Amino acid sequence: MDVDVVIVGAGAVGLAVAAEFARLGHDVLVLEAADGIGTGTSSRNSEVIHGGMYYPTNSLRHRMCVEGRRKLYAYLEARGVPHLKRGKLIVATSDTETAKIESIHATGLKNDVENLRLISGAEAMAWEPNLRCTAALWSPETGIVDSHGYMLALQGEIEDHGGSVVFETPVTRIEIIDGGFRVTTGGAGPGDITCQRLVNSAGLYAHQVARSIEGYRAALIPKLVLAKGNYFGCSGKPAFSRLIYPAPVDGGLGVHVTLDLVGRMRFGPDVEWLSTSDPAVVDYRVDAKRSDSFYAAIRRYWPGLSDGAITADYSGCRPKLSGPGEPAADFRIDGPELHGVAGLVNLFGIESPGLTSSLAIAEEVRRRVAN
Ligand SMILES: Cc1cc2nc3c(=O)[nH]c(=O)nc-3n(C[C@H](O)[C@H](O)[C@H](O)COP(=O)(O)OP(=O)(O)OC[C@H]3O[C@@H](n4cnc5c(N)ncnc54)[C@H](O)[C@@H]3O)c2cc1C
Repeated sequence: MDVDVVIVGAGAVGLAVAAEFARLGHDVLVLEAADGIGTGTSSRNSEVIHGGMYYPTNSLRHRMCVEGRRKLYAYLEARGVPHLKRGKLIVATSDTETAKIESIHATGLKNDVENLRLISGAEAMAWEPNLRCTAALWSPETGIVDSHGYMLALQGEIEDHGGSVVFETPVTRIEIIDGGFRVTTGGAGPGDITCQRLVNSAGLYAHQVARSIEGYRAALIPKLVLAKGNYFGCSGKPAFSRLIYPAPVDGGLGVHVTLDLVGRMRFGPDVEWLSTSDPAVVDYRVDAKRSDSFYAAIRRYWPGLSDGAITADYSGCRPKLSGPGEPAADFRIDGPELHGVAGLVNLFGIESPGLTSSLAIAEEVRRRVAN
């Protein structure tokens, strides 16, 4: 075999998987279709390090998020990557929403999320004078990270251990051979590479990559539902010093306020279900007309938001495995125990909290193909 492990995709998850194997002395090669690291969903998100209180107890999203968050803070600290534990308030503005945040609190306690606390609206408004709410859930463990800095640190670690990340090298076909895989690539330098283990971490394109594995059963590839998330930026001084989230909505966490590392505010993402399941045709431009729904959503907890303050910014796209109105699907880490192909892992549906979970997903992937 040319290398031990090939990882398809140099997003936060693919890089974390590659670093995990490289650290343990494996020879790793990351094949990336684009011309740099993290140009996909990993650079089109909120950069929030999530606590882990939203997800059903014992789901992969729960376990990966809580373990991943703990590992991520330690990693960022050790590697000097900019991050900040700003903490987050999930706010209720009605009795129905109070019931929702109480239920998130209960799930968070079961999920072993540290230091969660329900507080009164008065206390939350004393902390954040621009806020209007009737109750809030305080999550001090939630933070923000420079996601590009994080991915650069992972790339550095892979390279320090002798691994490589190769750009403009799209994987076009995978053949299962005796003892491993033959991976065919297109792009600038087309060719074949053989490896013992193969991890499909192609994000929005993971389904397409799985379909290119010759002989892989189509019935094992889940449906893909795309849901765009739009962001609006906000000019002027930040109105809050903590992250502010409303009660969650179908398909997303609600239009929230995040702050980047220099304190600039942005709002989003909303949930825009797309009728296509082809990631290549997603239009990432943000329709300025969506500002009406943003003003309405934000003013429920920040009535002081003035007209004209928000402007269309960027968007991202979630590779969901469930559609509108359906229960939210879990992450899929499909290893040999599911498909019977030794050495293969397909990662499907790694939407939020994938960035937070990346180091825990990496460890889980390695465990699934340990032999
Ligand atoms: C709107 C939005 C907000 C989010 N906010 C958060 C948040 O605040 N916190 C959080 O924890 N998570 C968040 N997430 C989730 C997080 O961004 C993703 O889970 C994570 O970035 C996924 O990383 P990835 O490596 O799986 O995918 P990607 O970053 O998409 O990387 C996949 C890579 O594979 C490459 N690729 C595709 N096809 C091929 C091929 N055939 N050959 C070679 N390479 C290929 C692509 O070019 C790409 O670089 C959010 C997601 C969205 C959409």
